[in-house]
Amino acid sequence: MALSFSALLVAATSLSATNSSLSFASTPSATELQPQELLTVAAAPGQPISRDGYSVTEAEVIAEKKAAVAGYRTANTFTNNPTSAVQWPFPVGVPISDGFGPRVAPTAGASSNHKGVDFTPGQGTPVNAVAAGVVRLVQETDQGGLGVYVVIDHVIDGVNVSSWYGHMLTGSPVVTEGQLVVAGQQIGAVGNTGVSTGAHTHLEIHVEDTPVDPFAWISARN
Ligand SMILES: [Zn+2]
Repeated sequence: MALSFSALLVAATSLSATNSSLSFASTPSATELQPQELLTVAAAPGQPISRDGYSVTEAEVIAEKKAAVAGYRTANTFTNNPTSAVQWPFPVGVPISDGFGPRVAPTAGASSNHKGVDFTPGQGTPVNAVAAGVVRLVQETDQGGLGVYVVIDHVIDGVNVSSWYGHMLTGSPVVTEGQLVVAGQQIGAVGNTGVSTGAHTHLEIHVEDTPVDPFAWISARN
């Protein structure tokens, strides 16, 4: 955790130095930072930073910091590679309350064969497109089921894939049908619409119209 904090501190300090007139001298621990460290982080985005035995990129460190500042719940469930063509729907790992496959239905009307993965970073958390594609459908009104939801069509490695983002906050979709989106672009926000017992994003990935395990599918491509 000490390494993790110092990595965040380096990123935060370099941002402050770039974007404001904040003096290093006014930052209590600035004297502990070597100028070379600041230069390395600021000048080489995408370069890995060693942390707790694995490496992360500056973009990942900044994403974590933004999530913490915004109050989103994070968890060590996955690490998003922001340079990959396939992305997780959130820029940092977030809690997952339910996986793909058979289950006991959590509420009346809910499926006992769960066709997606449920992410629970908290209501209002931005939800991002998992890959570049074209928005097929934006369900703006809550008519049960997936509630307010968005479907995006992709062609990935020559295969037709669609991604489904359920239970969004009413009014949160920021895309329209037919719109081109890029991987990692915000499409809406986490909500509790439809058949849902708490704010979450239900993500489905369909490969040639057949639901597959989104966790395994994204893990293999991010
Ligand atoms: Zn679900």
